[in-house]
Amino acid sequence: MRNIIDDIEIRAREELFINIHPIQPGGRLTPEAMKAMIAYGDGYSTCDWCRKPFRLDKIKRPPIEEFHIELAEFLGMDQARVVPGARRGFQAVVSSLVEKGDSVIVSSLAHYTEFLAVEDAGGIVKEVPLNEKNIVTAEATARKIEEVKKETGKLPKLIMIDHFDYMFGNEHDVYGIAKVAKEYDIPFLCNCAYSIGVMPINGKEIGADFLVGSGHKSFASPAPSGIVASTKEWADIVFRTTQMIGDVTKRKFGIKEVEMLGCTLMGANLIAMMASFPAIKERVKHWDEEVRKINYLMDEFLKIEGNKVLSEMPRKHTLTKVDTTESFDKIARTHKRRGFFFSDELRDRKIVGEFAGATRTWKLNTYGLTWDQIRYLAQAFQDIAKKYGINIIK
Ligand SMILES: *Cc1c(COP(=O)(O)O)cnc(C)c1O
Repeated sequence: MRNIIDDIEIRAREELFINIHPIQPGGRLTPEAMKAMIAYGDGYSTCDWCRKPFRLDKIKRPPIEEFHIELAEFLGMDQARVVPGARRGFQAVVSSLVEKGDSVIVSSLAHYTEFLAVEDAGGIVKEVPLNEKNIVTAEATARKIEEVKKETGKLPKLIMIDHFDYMFGNEHDVYGIAKVAKEYDIPFLCNCAYSIGVMPINGKEIGADFLVGSGHKSFASPAPSGIVASTKEWADIVFRTTQMIGDVTKRKFGIKEVEMLGCTLMGANLIAMMASFPAIKERVKHWDEEVRKINYLMDEFLKIEGNKVLSEMPRKHTLTKVDTTESFDKIARTHKRRGFFFSDELRDRKIVGEFAGATRTWKLNTYGLTWDQIRYLAQAFQDIAKKYGINIIK
């Protein structure tokens, strides 16, 4: 069987290949999540045992309520909700705090969904410049706040900074930035799309008012899924309940939360997150090993003459941006397949996930690969180099 129906092919990338796609590895499902997808795939499946007061995060069977409590605890926060993607987490927070014309501090490496969340609320993004190492520092954040204050006469309403950015996978000084945020009394949202679910994260230790995570990016969960967590100081604002009363019917909808539009992440997506949770709690303890693997791979990768790593070194994350302009791209310039020669060579070795055709700067992510696969990958890059006469530095 090769197709689900006529033109929808079976997807077997993770079974047949080593996948180094920058955004996919952390979202790869656990076997438990796969089972949940099948068993809870029907639309409103989580509503079987929904009882008063009729809200998703209050359902006791399966233990959705307990999951919410444990999730908040796991993140060192007071309250957590599940949402359809990190982006919906930004949206919930931004839409609660930001009004038309308000400034929001973001990173110069902010994800586009942060821009959109601010735009949706009528706010204006103000980007903190990067230092020479492509890091957002606390000092630069403080400087930007002062600039905004001088320019607009008002403090920004929110600071939203990525723990690890999507471009380099660099770690930004969210601990220091949280302190700056406190000094100015501005709420701080720490965007952990690339960290919650792969490494230990504690919002209280960071000093964040909000944490946002992505289920499909880093929590072994299907898309869309995500997490927004808050301290108790902000929970009443972001998770405020409906006050609306129908003018004809006088109806009210009790404890439904406005930003969540009542119930958020229903059905299989939520149950799959819950099914992956035990594995997540275990795997975050082994983040060190993941970091050792990417550093080994990059050491081997750099033995290929001309190769560069654009992300900070040593690596602190498995997502990494590399530059092969002076190695593989030189081959691509005269090869009849151009940049695709490199993808062809990788695919022949059962490696996929690099941006097809790209031989200058591109990203890879080794999260979850075994040591054998890492060594194989290192060897494969060097073998391709050798095949085209690129030097390997010993
Ligand atoms: C992937 C990503 C997002 C978006 O996450 P979704 O869960 O797809 O909404 C936001 N921020 C960063 C830094 C990301 O890498």
